[in-house]
Amino acid sequence: MTRTPLMAGNWKMNLDHLEAIATVQKLAQILIDSKHDAATVEAAVLVPFTDIRSVQTIVDADKLPLAYGAQDVSEHDSGAYTGEISAAMLAKLGVTYVAVGHSERREYHGETDAQVNTKVRKLAAAGLTSIVCVGEPLEIRKAGTHVEYTVDSLKGSLADLSADELAKVVVAYEPVWAIGTGEVATPEDAQEVIGAIREAIAQWYGADVAAATRVLYGGSVKSGNVAEIMAKPDIDGALVGGASLDPEEFAKIVILGKTA
Ligand code: PEP
Repeated sequence: MTRTPLMAGNWKMNLDHLEAIATVQKLAQILIDSKHDAATVEAAVLVPFTDIRSVQTIVDADKLPLAYGAQDVSEHDSGAYTGEISAAMLAKLGVTYVAVGHSERREYHGETDAQVNTKVRKLAAAGLTSIVCVGEPLEIRKAGTHVEYTVDSLKGSLADLSADELAKVVVAYEPVWAIGTGEVATPEDAQEVIGAIREAIAQWYGADVAAATRVLYGGSVKSGNVAEIMAKPDIDGALVGGASLDPEEFAKIVILGKTA
């Protein structure tokens, strides 16, 4: 089973819609000039809601070799939920990927696995792919229970999803202590947890589904460390925060993300 690697840039709350246009054009131009083949590594940018329409317009008009997406979605379909954006609204904008349960949503907005689960269902129903983020905080890593903690969080986030719904899920293992800190989990640390995630998916859904599910690593990924991370057998790409804001650096990550 071959899984196409995915490099997804999480811009967080950075770059307004004009900056987004310039950044996406530059990123795409570098990928085109370097003859990057999107079939070998897929590149995506997860942008602020206010950027999506602008990014959609240039990606579609110029047929840029990039997917785009959002960083969150509402648990609700429509109605009196001030400030929220529904899965249907994102689908209408041609979005492919939506991050769900990022540690910053969990930490600053109290998002739970049960809420993540609802969001994944809403996205799958709208035909969109979730990037479901899980990962342990530092104290859990120090206690040595990071594998159980992360698999348990994933279990709650995917609870009762059908195999068809799971086909619209990418998992991202992001140890919280490695996000935005410059502290990278070693490739072996990442493989340990991501291998356990794949085994858990095999137990829940069978070997074929586990072999088809992409599992990314996230946490201070840069062009200087992406190749060794991608050399691990169960790691299918990266969720990249800070380094994705620089189109030259992110393009390098995409190009170097090609596995042998
Ligand atoms: C992230 O935001 O998901 C992330 C991994 O950030 P960084 O690459 O900056 O650690």
